[in-house]
Amino acid sequence: MKKSLFRTFIIKYAEIGIKGRNRFLFEDALVDRVKNALRDMAGSFYLRKTPGRIFLEMKEDFDFDEVVERLGKVFGTVGIAPTLSLEDEGFDALAQQVVSYWGDMYGDRMNGEKPLTFKVNARRNRKNYPKNSMEINADLGEVLLQAYPQLKVDVHKPEILLEVEIRDRIYVYSEILPGPGGMPVGTGGKAMLLLSGGIDSPVAGWMIAKRGVTLDAVYFNAPPYTSERALQKVVDLATIVSAYTGPINLHVINFTDIQLKIYELCPHEELTIIMRRYMMRIAEKLAQDCGALGLVTGESIGQVASQTMASLVATNEVCTLPVYRPLIAFDKQDIVEISERIGTYETSILPYEDCCTIFVAKHPVTKPNVNVIRRHEHNLDEVIGPLLEAAFETDRIIRVGAEEE
Ligand code: ATP
Ligand code: MG
Repeated sequence: MKKSLFRTFIIKYAEIGIKGRNRFLFEDALVDRVKNALRDMAGSFYLRKTPGRIFLEMKEDFDFDEVVERLGKVFGTVGIAPTLSLEDEGFDALAQQVVSYWGDMYGDRMNGEKPLTFKVNARRNRKNYPKNSMEINADLGEVLLQAYPQLKVDVHKPEILLEVEIRDRIYVYSEILPGPGGMPVGTGGKAMLLLSGGIDSPVAGWMIAKRGVTLDAVYFNAPPYTSERALQKVVDLATIVSAYTGPINLHVINFTDIQLKIYELCPHEELTIIMRRYMMRIAEKLAQDCGALGLVTGESIGQVASQTMASLVATNEVCTLPVYRPLIAFDKQDIVEISERIGTYETSILPYEDCCTIFVAKHPVTKPNVNVIRRHEHNLDEVIGPLLEAAFETDRIIRVGAEEE
């Protein structure tokens, strides 16, 4: 692709399910997200919303790859089309510009034995244009065939689909770079992500945010058993995720005292489950305090002992908010692939201990009995009650991600 041709981008979004009033909310939110994704870029830009599309005009020198990379992180976008924005100077001028565009874009694909197939797809939004869309298709097709004998029309499965939109100006594009899909962040309420330093939870948060949900996060820290670097790793992960979601309030809760008490007073095979139950309770309280409507974890059935269905029953029952587990049916390899794609993997695999890896039992239960767990926990309540209060006091909020306007 000849990147220097373009200063305009058409941002496309899926229209299914966003009819009526919701559509405006959706579009406004998307414009807002695009604005924020680009706000600190050198050079200024201009955004314009028309039904079904958002036009982005870059004004000065700009970095094409940077713009595409950033737009590629805006949920709600299904495609990004680098576009020529042409003044309407009559059909002949348009035809000439299209021929020259074609040469720049596909010159090197038209010297093989095989013809390159194409189709023109015109849309006339401005009805006073002297040709209708069928005529534009036919006439531009003809002009291209004459200019480039190696071309061939294929109306069913063209290799290249040349889109021409006649509006106040004329827009020409033929390459659509994939967007991440989903819904613009901010259209779906807020959730509290339990974020550890592992591979799974950042991916889980990313997936829920992709549905339009704003994230807050909580990390349970256990100094001195976990290091400053383990915390920094979680901050770094939250920062990577925030490039998609906007700023995240990361709550850091000191969990050491609770963990030590559990370690001291509970059967070791139940450690992880009981610890997870306390985490969920604390997370739920934080969620309610900040208006979050659900919790998000990186759990997946059977991945470890604390994630069997029986274990999930035990961790789930302490919460009343819904617990979203987007990875529940994913294999590890699938999760790893997403984490590589979204850029969290390299950070997730750094070796710093998180609190769960230190206080682990050799033989954790895989089929905990909720009644038994409750009974053991009951013995703890008196000791842990005050510690829970104290843990909330330690809540330190680290705001990660670039601030928005
Ligand atoms: P991850 O890769 O996300 O760390 P995991 O496979 O290591 O997950 P567990 O350690 O059993 O799984 O944790 C299950 C889930 O509990 C995590 O995905 C995360 O949502 C939450 N969690 C675990 N440890 C912590 C922690 N220290 N702080 C916050 N959340 C945590
Ligand atoms: Mg973990």
